[in-house]
Formats: sequence, C-alpha cells, structure tokens
Amino acid sequence: MLMTKERLPAIRTLRGWAISVLQDAGAIRECEDHGWMRDRADPHARERAFAIARQDPPSGVSPEAAAAAIAEVLDSIGDTCPECPPPD
Ligand SMILES: [Zn+2]
Repeated sequence: MLMTKERLPAIRTLRGWAISVLQDAGAIRECEDHGWMRDRADPHARERAFAIARQDPPSGVSPEAAAAAIAEVLDSIGDTCPECPPPD
C-alpha cells in the first residue's frame, strides 16, 4: 500500500510546525539532558510565536488555526523537565 505525506494526519503535521515555530521564537526549549520540551514561560517569546503563526501560517492553514495550534502545543508542554530534579 502506498503511503504518501498527504495521508499523514494534518494535526500531527501542524503540531510539528507549531513546535518548530515555538522553538525559533524561544518560547520552548528542549532539556539538554533528557530531550523533553519545556515551556520557558516567556510572554514575549510567546507573542513572537503567535505573531509568526498569524503572519506566516503553513500553506493551506488559516492564521486562526495556526495560532490555535501554537496555543495547543503550549498547553501540552510543562515548564519543567519531568526527569530533571526539582530546584531547591
Ligand atoms: Zn531534563
């Protein structure tokens, strides 16, 4: 059976795009030790990510849907790495 990129669930692709935008904007960062995404809780970086989403959404995606994907990723990412020891 032929599997093409078009058959991938759109939400998965959009989520991957949102994560890369958030990383570019500096809103999230990968834990260097464990590879988990962490929310940096930086409101300015979040603003930048939302601005990018609205101004330059992926082709075929509305600015509203792109911004919603950014919000969804932020919702799903914690501000600490689950494997790092909590700071004292
Ligand atoms: Zn970690």
